[in-house]
Amino acid sequence: MSYVNDVYQQLVARNPGEVEFHQAALEVLQALEKVVEANPEMQKAGLLERLVEPERQIMFRVPWVDDQGRTQVNRGFRVQFNSAIGPYKGGLRLHPSVNLGIIKFLGFEQIFKNSLTGLPIGGGKGGSDFDPKGKSDREIMAFCQSFMTELYRHVGANMDVPAGDIGVGAREIGFLYGQYKRITGQYEGVLTGKGIPYGGSLARKEATGFGLVYFAQEMLKSKGDSFKGKKVAISGAGNVAIYAAEKATELGATVVTMSDSTGWIYDANGIDLPAIHEIKEVRRARLSEYAAGHPKAEYHEGRGVWSVKCDIALPCATQNELNGDDAKQLIANGCQLVAEGANMPSTPEAIDAFLNNGVFFGPAKAANAGGVAVSALEMSQNSLRLSWSFEEVDERLKGIMSGIYERASSAAKRYGMEGNLVAGANIAGFEKVAAAMMAQGIV
Ligand code: GLU
Repeated sequence: MSYVNDVYQQLVARNPGEVEFHQAALEVLQALEKVVEANPEMQKAGLLERLVEPERQIMFRVPWVDDQGRTQVNRGFRVQFNSAIGPYKGGLRLHPSVNLGIIKFLGFEQIFKNSLTGLPIGGGKGGSDFDPKGKSDREIMAFCQSFMTELYRHVGANMDVPAGDIGVGAREIGFLYGQYKRITGQYEGVLTGKGIPYGGSLARKEATGFGLVYFAQEMLKSKGDSFKGKKVAISGAGNVAIYAAEKATELGATVVTMSDSTGWIYDANGIDLPAIHEIKEVRRARLSEYAAGHPKAEYHEGRGVWSVKCDIALPCATQNELNGDDAKQLIANGCQLVAEGANMPSTPEAIDAFLNNGVFFGPAKAANAGGVAVSALEMSQNSLRLSWSFEEVDERLKGIMSGIYERASSAAKRYGMEGNLVAGANIAGFEKVAAAMMAQGIV
């Protein structure tokens, strides 16, 4: 049995039922087969066994009182996966589907994503099974304050720096920051995605979506192509989807779809983005409302975004939202490029279908790294006690995304897998972390 296979079998036996973690780990481990074969000292140092075991996993009770005066209890998580190259860094997800396996898959992905950015940030992730949907501002605040009342002892500007993810935006980060400061008395960059008046970075809100499009632009450029005149299908209607749609539109593409947890819209003329801002960001309402103001647009209940004809697909909703059948349909419809805005949105079957049918595929840990990259720039600005202009941050983001593309594509080429950015991103992300872990001894 190969070293990689051995490590994977142990991981499955040791972490029963954590299917998303198994899926994320298998993809990385498969890509590393040739790397560990070429570097036998890694096996001797138990590098992969250490890599797949989080440095620390914290689970805690989060009690809070709802607007009816009832006590609610949620479960909080923070998985501090790997600190070889910097303080743990990664978002907090608030969604009823959250469990330890989901947080571990996200934390594991984050290690390689963060490494790929070229910035000094380790990998971590956290969250809770709390469902923010339909909650009042006061309930959100009560939850966030209770969550931070435990989390504060595990985080810090040089230790672990959480941020947003699904269900956590500026409002939640504000409540979390206020409580951290109140408990510790420290005014420090312990969270990123903060509001601009209290240490946030300009362009952080836009960064994941913009970065995704900059990355896809690099992919297109390598083929002598661009976004101009392209039809783009996007799933999701959160922070990532909205700013990906905005940047793709700015570059001359027509974005024809968006979706949320209840349904999806199709607008052949291009999605009206100011209307989406109003529905999703201001009113926090459902996408079904879009159809009312746009008689030519279609609204469909359920899933179906991947059934439309498009040149480019940008899955920006959630894990495993694009399966093998969706991939086949996209291929049959002539889709040429897929770049992932969400974390692990394509199933392994879908990825195989893309790679085997000449669809140029940009995996999440490379394509969506713009968000965490600008989070790292927010940390830099906090340390400097300065803030940079929108243009300055955006320029750095562009440079970082093209650096990620370069690192992933050249690593793929080096190992004889030219054009396979899945392998390339995993290898390039791994190499820096591995070198740091080897240098730091058995820890
Ligand atoms: N949640 C985002 C991600 O998946 C951003 C994390 C961060 O900014 O720390 O990368």
